[in-house]
Amino acid sequence: MPTTRVQERASTHASAAPPPTVGDLMTANQRLEIGCCRCGRRELIEAPRAIELFGAFTTYPQLKRVAKCSKCGARGVDGDIWARASVEDHYRNHGVTATALQGETKSPKPT
Ligand SMILES: [Zn+2]
Repeated sequence: MPTTRVQERASTHASAAPPPTVGDLMTANQRLEIGCCRCGRRELIEAPRAIELFGAFTTYPQLKRVAKCSKCGARGVDGDIWARASVEDHYRNHGVTATALQGETKSPKPT
């Protein structure tokens, strides 16, 4: 059974979690946030589109190597492109609004 094998492997390597991939954006309900260090261009890409562009099994370091800025032509291979899962979406998914975030920096969290 392929399913059993996958589960066994997952439990064996539980300590070494696989690196996050573009496909994880779908699971986490987050967009891909990608930006250029040279011209400051920043873009949010919907998860299905990001998978279409970069592939579901592409990790962030791999993605950065192939990414290129459409505005100034800076290349990720030169270290000019950054990419991550959208932090905004992470907070949104956890029910934290921008207002709540601002309040959080001023006063410590209750509980
Ligand atoms: Zn650029």
